[in-house]
Amino acid sequence: MIRHETLNPPPHIYPINEWKIIETSFYPRFLAQNETLFSVGNGYLGLRGNFEEGDPVFQNGTFINGFHETWPIVYGEKAYGFAKTGQTMLNVTDAKTIRLYVDDEPFYLPTASLMLFERILDMRAGTLEREVLWETPSGKQILIQSRRLVSLEHRHLAAISYQVTVLNASTPVVIASGVQGNQPNKGSVNDQRQSKGFDERVMMLEKQSVTERRTIFGHSVRNSGMSMACGVEHVFETDCEYETHVDCGDDSAETVYTINAEEGKPIQLVKFMSYHSSRRPQVQEMCIRSGRTLDRAVKMGFENLLLSQREFMDEFWRRSDVTIEEDPQQVPPAKKGELQQALRWNLFQILQASGRAEGTSIPAKGLSGQTYEGHYFWDTEIYVLPFLTYTAPRIARNILLHRYHMLDQARERARVLNHSGAMFPWRTINGEEASAYYAAGTAQYHINADIMYALKKYVEITGDKSFLNSEGAEMLVETARMWSDLGFYSERQNGQFCIHSVTGPDEYTTVVNNNTYTNLMARENLWYAARTVRNMQENYTQHFASLVHKTQLNIAEIDQWQMAADRMYVPCDRGLGIHPQDDSFLDREVLDIANIPRDKFPLLLHFHPLVIYRHQVIKQADVVLAMFLLGDEFSAEEKESNFRYYDPLTTGDSSLSACIQSIIAGEVSDGTRQLKYARYAILMDLADVGGNVHDGCHIASMGGTWMAVVYGFAGIRDYEGQLSFEPRLPSVIKKLRFPLQVRGQELVLEIRRDSVTYLLREGNELVLQHFDRDVVLKKNEPQVMEIEKSPEKDS
Ligand code: BGC
Repeated sequence: MIRHETLNPPPHIYPINEWKIIETSFYPRFLAQNETLFSVGNGYLGLRGNFEEGDPVFQNGTFINGFHETWPIVYGEKAYGFAKTGQTMLNVTDAKTIRLYVDDEPFYLPTASLMLFERILDMRAGTLEREVLWETPSGKQILIQSRRLVSLEHRHLAAISYQVTVLNASTPVVIASGVQGNQPNKGSVNDQRQSKGFDERVMMLEKQSVTERRTIFGHSVRNSGMSMACGVEHVFETDCEYETHVDCGDDSAETVYTINAEEGKPIQLVKFMSYHSSRRPQVQEMCIRSGRTLDRAVKMGFENLLLSQREFMDEFWRRSDVTIEEDPQQVPPAKKGELQQALRWNLFQILQASGRAEGTSIPAKGLSGQTYEGHYFWDTEIYVLPFLTYTAPRIARNILLHRYHMLDQARERARVLNHSGAMFPWRTINGEEASAYYAAGTAQYHINADIMYALKKYVEITGDKSFLNSEGAEMLVETARMWSDLGFYSERQNGQFCIHSVTGPDEYTTVVNNNTYTNLMARENLWYAARTVRNMQENYTQHFASLVHKTQLNIAEIDQWQMAADRMYVPCDRGLGIHPQDDSFLDREVLDIANIPRDKFPLLLHFHPLVIYRHQVIKQADVVLAMFLLGDEFSAEEKESNFRYYDPLTTGDSSLSACIQSIIAGEVSDGTRQLKYARYAILMDLADVGGNVHDGCHIASMGGTWMAVVYGFAGIRDYEGQLSFEPRLPSVIKKLRFPLQVRGQELVLEIRRDSVTYLLREGNELVLQHFDRDVVLKKNEPQVMEIEKSPEKDS
C-alpha cells in the first residue's frame, strides 16, 4: 500500500546538490530533524548536528557505538526466561559546544539578525560546515565559520574549527569552549521504539584534569561498569589581544577566551576531541589514550585532518558510489538531482554508521540518535551487509565476527529457552537478549537464519573460505542445532518438519505456527550447515577436526539437519495460489487499511496489539522478503500472486519494508510501484517519510535503498554466488553506474536504457550472466550488452 502519493520536497534542505546537503536559512521548525540530517560519525563515534553554540537544541547528542548502561527490566508480570537486562546506548560527554558572545550578548540563532546562514554537509569532504553572518543589535557584523568532522581515518578523533571575524568594528568578543559530562538521555514512555531514559545519574565522573589547553574527563557507567574518557585540546590563534581562563563546574569545564577583537582580524579556535571507551572499568587507561590521541591530532593539525578525511572519502566513493542520471524531460526542475543526492546521502549514512565499527555491529539508528536504545537487530545482517559485502568486505567480515563473539551468550540463551545450539538475541548491545516484549522480540527466531544467510552471501561474494571454515562453521553448527531442536515432524502435516510459536519479520502478526519466511530461512540455514560441514569433513580435515572438538559435533547430526531441511513444511494455499504468511494468517479478518485515517499510522502507536494481531495486516514485507532473499525458490507465478495478495495488506509501518516491496514489484513487472517504493526508501529520511527522523536515521532502509537500486533497477541476482543481471531501468532513469567487489575483483556496471557496459576494473576474469547469455570479462576489456525491450516494465 502506498500511503503518501507524493513525497514533499523538504524545504529546509534546498537547493539540491548532488554531493551536499545544504540548508540556507535557519528553520526552527526543522531543528530536530536537522540535528539528525547534519550528524557526523564514523561508526565508532557520532555527533548529532547540534549547533556549536549549544542552543537551540532538540537533543545535544554524542554517542559511542556500544557504550551503554544496563538496567533490570521490570515486568508487571514476569515469566521464566524473559530477558532480564535492558541495555541503553548512552549520550556521553559533550565536547562540541562553543559559545560566542559579542559585547556580552550571546549569539542565539532564533533571535539573531542573520545576513547569511548556510550549513552544508559535504559528502565528498566528509565534513559539516556552517557560515553565518550575524548583525548584532548595535550593527556589528560578525562572520562565523565553522567546520566539523569525525575522523574516519583516526577512529577516536573529532575536531571543530571555529572562526570568528568582526567585519566592521572592533569589539569585545568572548568564545567559551565547553566540555560537559552527564548528558541527559532521551527517553519516551509513549513510543516503545524510543530509548528508556534514566532518572538517576548513570555516568559517574572519576577523573578530571583541566588546563587551559587540555581538558580530560574520565567517566564510568554505574551498572554496566564500562568506562570512557573524553579529551579536548584547544589550539587558539589570532592577532588580536586576548586572555584565557578556565571555569570548572560540576562535571563541566569551560575554556574562556576574552578577546579585544579588531576589525577584519580572524579569531580561530580549533578544538580537537578524542573519545576512548572500554567494556571494563579502565578510566585511567582511557584518559591516557585520549591524551595520546590529542597529542597526535595537534601534531597533525586541522588541515591535515581534513586532507586525510578527504582521502578516506575518495576511496569510499570509488568503491561505493552509485550514480544515477534521470531523464531531464521527466523530472520537474525543482526535483532535479534529488534522487542522486538522496542516494548518496543514504550511502554516506551507512558509512557514518559502520566505517569504523570495529568490534561492534551497527545500531538501528546508527550513531545519530538513541531510538531503539542503540541496539543491534537483524537490520545489520539482512539490510546493511549486502552493501558492505559488495563494497567493503572487510567491514562486513568484522560485523560477522562480532556476531561470532556473541556465540557463547547465544548458546547460553538457547539453554534458557530449552533449545540445543545457539539462539542469537533479537536485540542487543552486549550479546544478551534485551527484548522486553517477547512476542515481537525473542519470538523472532528468524534472526538466527538471517545471520547465517548474511554469512552465506558474504562467503559466496567474497570467497572468504577461511572465515567460513572457522567462525562461520561454528555458528552454522549451533544455529542448525537450534532449528533442528525447535521444530518437529508433524503427523498432521504428513510428517513434514514444522516450526511453531515464532514471529516472522512482520511484527503485526506474532507467535504463530509455520511462518513461511522463518521456515524457508531455517531450511536454508540447515542446508547450508549440512553442506558446509560435509565439505569440511572431506576437504578441510583439520578445520573439521577443530570444529568437532569445539562443538562436540556428532556426525549423525548432519543427517538430522539435512532431513529437517528436506522435509521442511512450507505453507501453501492452492486456492489462492499463495504462500500463507503462516498457518492461521488467512483465517483472520482483513483489516481495511485504506479506510484508516492517516494519523492512525503507524498502527502500533494507536491500537492495542491484540486488535492488530487478530487481523490480516502487515507491518513490513514478510513473505515478500522471502521472495527476494530466496528468489530462486519461488516461481514467477508464485511471486506474482503472493505480491498481489500481500502488497495491499502491507502498511509499511516499518521503514524496512518499502525497499523490499520495490524490488519485488519490479520482478512482477509493476514498474509504477517499483519506482514509488524505491523513491519512498531513497527519500525515507530526507523527506521524513515516517515523521520521526528527529530521532535518528533509518539505517536499515538506507541499506535497503542500495538493494532497491542494485537488485531492483539493475536486476542483479547472486544465487549461490553466481552473478546474473537483468537490468530494466524505470523510464525516468537514463543511466545508472556503480561498482561491485566480487571475490577480490572489481566490476563496474554502467546501465543505460538499452545497453549495459560491464567492466572488470580490477582482477583477471569474471564470468557472469546477462539475461540468458554468459559473459566472460577480462580486466579492462569492457563489454557492451544489449537490453531487449520490455515495455511493460516501464513506469
Ligand atoms: C521493525 C524491525 C526492526 C526494528 C529496528 C522495527 O520497527 O519491525 O524489523 O528490526 O524496527 O529497526
